[in-house]
Amino acid sequence: MESTPTYDRLNQYGERLEDGDIILNLDYWDCECKQKFIHPINEDRCAICGFEQDECPSSRENEVNLFLGRV
Ligand SMILES: [Zn+2]
Repeated sequence: MESTPTYDRLNQYGERLEDGDIILNLDYWDCECKQKFIHPINEDRCAICGFEQDECPSSRENEVNLFLGRV
């Protein structure tokens, strides 16, 4: 029996789909700021809260869409 692991599923943007309703966009990450907490993957660190990409989770797809205005 073979089954495709859910973490290998990608959507049309090449983004990873998580179990359930959560879709992560691996091109962005969330810092700890209350606003403007979405950072592109080429930013290592948030200048405001000081969190680094390494210690932060990937952003959720729906939040990235709002951030980009891509709805
Ligand atoms: Zn921040």
